[in-house]
Amino acid sequence: MTAHVKPKALENFKARDFRMLIDGAWTQGAGSAIERVAPGHGVVVSRYPAGTKADAERAIAAARRAFDNGPWPNMTGAERSNILLKAADLIAARADELAFLDTIESGKPISQAKAELGGAVDIWRYAAALARDLHGESYNTLGDGTLGVVLREAIGVVSIITPWNFPFLIVSQKLPFALAAGCTTVVKPSEMTSGSTLVLGEILIEAGVPAGVVNIVTGTGPEVGSAMTTHPDVDMVSFTGSTGVGRLTMANAAQTLKKVSLELGGKNPQIVFPDADLDAFVDAAVFGAYFNAGECCNAGSRLILHTSIADDVTARIAELAKKVKVGDPLDPTTQVGAIITPQHLDKIGAYVDSASKAGASVALGGGALDLGLGQFMAPTILSGVKPDMAVAREEVFGPVLSVLTFDTTEEAIRIANAIDYGLSAGVWSRDFDTCLTIGRKVRAGTVWMNTFMDGASELPFGGYRQSGLGRELGRHAVEDYTETKTLNMHIGARTGWWMPR
Ligand code: NDP
Repeated sequence: MTAHVKPKALENFKARDFRMLIDGAWTQGAGSAIERVAPGHGVVVSRYPAGTKADAERAIAAARRAFDNGPWPNMTGAERSNILLKAADLIAARADELAFLDTIESGKPISQAKAELGGAVDIWRYAAALARDLHGESYNTLGDGTLGVVLREAIGVVSIITPWNFPFLIVSQKLPFALAAGCTTVVKPSEMTSGSTLVLGEILIEAGVPAGVVNIVTGTGPEVGSAMTTHPDVDMVSFTGSTGVGRLTMANAAQTLKKVSLELGGKNPQIVFPDADLDAFVDAAVFGAYFNAGECCNAGSRLILHTSIADDVTARIAELAKKVKVGDPLDPTTQVGAIITPQHLDKIGAYVDSASKAGASVALGGGALDLGLGQFMAPTILSGVKPDMAVAREEVFGPVLSVLTFDTTEEAIRIANAIDYGLSAGVWSRDFDTCLTIGRKVRAGTVWMNTFMDGASELPFGGYRQSGLGRELGRHAVEDYTETKTLNMHIGARTGWWMPR
C-alpha cells in the first residue's frame, strides 16, 4: 500500500468546507457531507453537502419562481450580457484559486487546469456577446395582410449536470449560454469535483445574477441528478457524462418530454497516412492520448496507422511517451496527473489485461505507477489491437493508446466508423484530397486535419450517434436554450373563412 505524502504545496492546507446554493442562500441541506480525497495526494481536500431529493426540489422551485416571476428572463440582452462579462472578469481574477481546486479534486496537472480556466473565461465572454445577438426571423412574404414573426424565447428552467474530468470548463460550456438566453438553472457538479462550481456560485452572486437564477446542488447522481431529470417543473436537461448515464437521463426526461442535450463519451480515431508530417503527428499522438491522463471524452485513444508506417511510428510514439512527466498534479512541470479514483485505476488495468489476453501487445507501460502519492497509471501503448477488441471499441478513459492498422482509405474509414461513438476524429496527411475525404466520410462531430484537440468558443462541439445529442459552443449555442414561437399577424381582422359575410 502506498504511503501518502502531503506535498509542500498542501502542508498548510486545510480541507475546505463548502455549502450548496439554493435560492440565493448558502445551505448545508439536511444530508451528510461528502469528503473528497485528492486523487494525486490521498488526503481529504474538500467537503460538500450530500444534497437530497428534497434539496433538488427546493432548488427547482426557486429556479421556477425566478423564471416565472423574472427579472432575469425579462432583462434586455445588454443587461444580461453586462452581468456575464462581469462574471468573466471575476472568474479571471480568481482563476488561480479555481485551477487549484480543480487540480486537487480531480488530479489534473495545475498547468493544465490554469489553461482550462483561461479557456473558460473566453467562453463566458463569448456567451456574453451572444446574449445581445439572440434574435428570431420575420417573413414579409406571406401576402399583403400577413406578417410572420418567429421569436426565440428562453426555454425556462434548465438542469445542468456535469462530470469530474473538466469541472470548471464543462459547466462553462453550458451555464453562460443558458443564462444568456434568459433561462434559470439548477446545476449539479460531479460529487467528486464540486469545489470550483460552488466558487462559481459566489462569483455569479457578486456579478449580479439574481437569487434563484443559478442554484447549485451537490450530491450524487441517483439522488440529486435523478430528481433534476424527472421533475415536471424542469424544461430542459443539459448533461455531460458517460453514454450509459446519458441514456438514463434521456429516459428519465422522456417521462415529461423535456428537451435534452447530451455530451457523452468518445473513442476517437486518428487516421495516419504515410505522407503525413510524422514528427508533428508523433507529438500530437502522445498529447492526444495522455492529456488529462486520457480521462478525456476527446482522447485520441485509437490510432489507425497505415500498415507501411505502423511499426516505426509506434516505436517513435513509445520513445516520446517515455519522456512524458507523470507526477504530482501541483508540480507546474507535471504533464500527466493522477487517476480519479482507485476503482477507476483498476478498471483501466482490466482493459489492458483483457486486450493482452485477446492478443494485443503492451508496447509501453501497462500498469499502475507508485509515486508515493495518490493513484497514477503509466502511459500505455497497446499494439496489434484488432477492431473487435473491447479496448478498440469502448471508452477506457485512461492513458491507454490502442494501435490499429489499415491498408486502404476505405478500410480506414470503415474501421473509424465501426463503433457506437462519433465524437471526434483526426486525419494526418499532406494530401488535401485525402484529408477532405476522411473529413467528410468519418461520422464524428469534429474532424481535425493535421492537428488534434484544438478548440475555440466559436466552433460547435458535440457528437454523432452515441456520443451525444445537440451541440455546445458556436454561435447557435444560445439558441439551444430557447423555444421557437411563431407570431402570425394580420393587418385588420382576417375575414372570409367558411361563411361569406
Ligand atoms: P457519469 O455519467 O458517471 O456522471 C456524469 C454526471 O451525471 C455526474 O454528475 C453524475 O453524478 C451524474 N449522474 C450519475 N447518475 C445519474 C442519474 N441517475 N441521474 C442524473 N445524473 C446522474 O460520468 P463521469 O462523471 O464518470 O464522467 C466521465 C464521462 O463523461 C465519460 O464517459 C466522458 O466521455 C464523458 N464526457 C463527455 C464529454 C463531452 O463533451 N462529450 C466531456 C467530458 C466528459 P455523480 O457522479 O456525482 O454521482
